[in-house]
Amino acid sequence: MGDPLTEKDETRTALRQVVDAAGPYLDSLADRPVYDRAAEPLLAELAGPLPEDGHGTGTAVETLLRVGTATATASAGPRFYHFVIGGSTPAALAADWVVSLLDQNAFVRASSRFADAVETVVLDWLRQLVGLPAGWGGALTASATFANLSGLALATHWWAQRHGVDVTSAGLAGLPRMPVLCGGYVHPSARKALQLLGHGRDSAEVFARDRTGRVDLAAIRRRLRELDGAPAVLAATAGEPDAGDFDPLADLADLAGEYRAWLHVDGAFGLFATLSPRTAHLSAGIERADSIAADAHKWLNVPYESGFVLVREPDRLGPAFGMPGAPYLPGPDDPRGGYGLLGPESSRRARALPIWATLAAYGRTGYRELVERHCDLARYLAATVDAAPDLQRLAEVPLNVVCFRYRPDGRSEAELDDINRRLGEALLDDGRVFAGTTVYNGHVGLRPAISNWRTTAADLDVFVDVVRELGASLS
Ligand SMILES: *Cc1c(COP(=O)(O)O)cnc(C)c1O
Repeated sequence: MGDPLTEKDETRTALRQVVDAAGPYLDSLADRPVYDRAAEPLLAELAGPLPEDGHGTGTAVETLLRVGTATATASAGPRFYHFVIGGSTPAALAADWVVSLLDQNAFVRASSRFADAVETVVLDWLRQLVGLPAGWGGALTASATFANLSGLALATHWWAQRHGVDVTSAGLAGLPRMPVLCGGYVHPSARKALQLLGHGRDSAEVFARDRTGRVDLAAIRRRLRELDGAPAVLAATAGEPDAGDFDPLADLADLAGEYRAWLHVDGAFGLFATLSPRTAHLSAGIERADSIAADAHKWLNVPYESGFVLVREPDRLGPAFGMPGAPYLPGPDDPRGGYGLLGPESSRRARALPIWATLAAYGRTGYRELVERHCDLARYLAATVDAAPDLQRLAEVPLNVVCFRYRPDGRSEAELDDINRRLGEALLDDGRVFAGTTVYNGHVGLRPAISNWRTTAADLDVFVDVVRELGASLS
């Protein structure tokens, strides 16, 4: 059984195996724990030496499904509140299967006109969805990390150009350090992007006016003045993961305009605040950015890996990313070129398809309702926390993240930090619900984020019950 050519009729059988397993798995998401440690020994079935003679398609797929449906983290379900993780809408999940069925290389038009055409539509739909003016463009990326990398690579190209250097050919040698000014909300992935781009992650100059990281605008202005006309980059955050707060984008856009700086905004999940008139004020001014990074695999509820970068002047993408040519590759202005020449990757899966399908299925209204429902649920959770004598909210709830801690009476701050740190560990070991900890304004707390289309108020009731039960057992 070593050669798929000799068993080619197995494909349909194998796909049917997946479909047959999908129904029960999806049905189980409503009630199953997020993680079941008891199933962990099953993982051993996937280990062992590389098979010399293969076991055949049916056996391989059966094993993977049996182990996977038992040991997977049910982050696609309604009670996973760690990080910011969306599920997959029915349309997005089905379309993701189509991606594998068609197995397109969304590198350039020469490899798939279909994938290229859908990506063009999807980028414009995303632009419209979040209310950006016509003329913006971009590219789909694997993640917001890669979208930050892309936006900051464009910023680097622009900044070097202002120094008279084409950084794509000459590199950074001989240039001064690129000033990147930000508040304390700057995401680690944006700093990682700076590190990968050769600026070093410490090139981010952080100007915060308090321990939560709120940006110090006056200090940024002083620094810009001090730079005396030297080009600089402002890196803003629309939606930080601890509490869902935003940098004041309009004020930063004013500064960028006044000092001719590049404004990059990381809106991994917060960009979708633009969808509702109730939250749009948070992201006001984002349309004046030069580049915006965001994720579809978070609040858009599209399967991994799905990020995107939107840019005000899409003509900058080609010069900043175009590969050094080779005789067998399309060139930068080639009609057979495409998005693989406009971003950090070459071969790419057709990640436009699930985004297309989910936007086609649910439209602007569906997503506005999703965002509003999640913000309502976050407020509901906040009210539940406020009403509980042993819980204490640590932050306002502008969007979909609720930062709070377990707070039994009569404990010192150091004891509370210790209890909440152990509570975070206990939640992940218990597995009924998932949430992560952070340090907010000096206090260790939990920071559940609500971004899965399946989540209801009843799921949050379970979450609070589990938190209080485990908290009580620890303290
Ligand atoms: C999640 C997140 C990122 C990183 O996104 P990935 O898709 O995991 O790369 C960047 N910035 C913010 C604000 C985030 O919330």
